[in-house]
Amino acid sequence: MNILVVEDEKNIAGLIKRGLESDGYNVVVSHNGADGLALANTRKFDLLILDWLLPKKDGLAVLYELRQAGNHMPVLMLTAKDQADNIVSGLDTGADDYLTKPFEFAELQARVRTLIRRANQDQGAEFRHLDVRIDPVNHKAWRGDAGITLSETEYRILAYFVRNAETVLSRQDIFDNCWNTPVNPFSNIVDVYINYLRKKVDEPFPTKFIHSVRGQGYIFEERK
Ligand code: CA
Repeated sequence: MNILVVEDEKNIAGLIKRGLESDGYNVVVSHNGADGLALANTRKFDLLILDWLLPKKDGLAVLYELRQAGNHMPVLMLTAKDQADNIVSGLDTGADDYLTKPFEFAELQARVRTLIRRANQDQGAEFRHLDVRIDPVNHKAWRGDAGITLSETEYRILAYFVRNAETVLSRQDIFDNCWNTPVNPFSNIVDVYINYLRKKVDEPFPTKFIHSVRGQGYIFEERK
């Protein structure tokens, strides 16, 4: 397993590198965003640990460019900024998880294991329910023949719905499976994202698939 660490604070980068190497990972370190992006684009890594504030190119810009280029490697963002709006913009740009500095190394280890395991589960075949089809390798979705343009968070929610079709999913279920962070930054964040998803998945079509279940959550199923 190869991990790329992009972190300009050399003591933190060194601690992460030594710790993960003793867990058996191969670790490559870059100290600025531009070099980190170049490395991520030229070599295959199983995980990127990406600091937010970096010289030459900040972490969010690195992440944006990677995702625009179709690179879906798991990304764990490190941030000293713990404001909810920054975390949300990081996750929506395509970070898979984030960790606020300072953090315990054991916490980093746990997140790394989870992200790598989840990425391996994502390598499977396309799956579908009704006429919604999901490509878990490239994070793409279609309804019928029409491609649906989704942010990373929207993609995760739709994939979760399709995998668990015709089952009531609570807001907490959706949050736990699609955000993968322990803290819910906004109380209504699940509803906000489901509204985005409905506009893309349901609004153009006469048959709606995403439905509220009063007092319980949401369900993905066909209702005329
Ligand atoms: Ca930094």
